[in-house]
Amino acid sequence: MVTVRTFDNYFSANILLGRLQESGIECYLFDEHTVTIDPLLTNAIGGIKLSVRKEDLAMVTGVLKEFDEAFLQAARCPRCHDNNILLVPKQAAGNVIASILTWLFSSYAVSIENVYQCQQCGYESKTLPEDNTLHN
Ligand SMILES: [Zn+2]
Repeated sequence: MVTVRTFDNYFSANILLGRLQESGIECYLFDEHTVTIDPLLTNAIGGIKLSVRKEDLAMVTGVLKEFDEAFLQAARCPRCHDNNILLVPKQAAGNVIASILTWLFSSYAVSIENVYQCQQCGYESKTLPEDNTLHN
């Protein structure tokens, strides 16, 4: 099993779990109970881990990419309510062209630290703003 992504909340983890299962991919969440019971422990144990079988990794990467694009289109900036939010590598944030290029060509490995950045007002968040259409 390989961990493809970690989450700091149960809600996001389950959306993605459901999406992968719909695609027929065998996947599991680890540590979710600890996180749900005590959110303060989330950082200590590394959050909720979404794991898949190694042989499914290529397919999972494709599904994650699709999912992220759809999710980003639905997301809105909590500060200016613009929906022009991109997932950009943290070190490149600020330089829009470099951010987009790095984003397009970077893999979706969890080791790369990315931030969600509003291209309108510059708002940054490590997780997608919860205020989006998926809640409505
Ligand atoms: Zn904004």
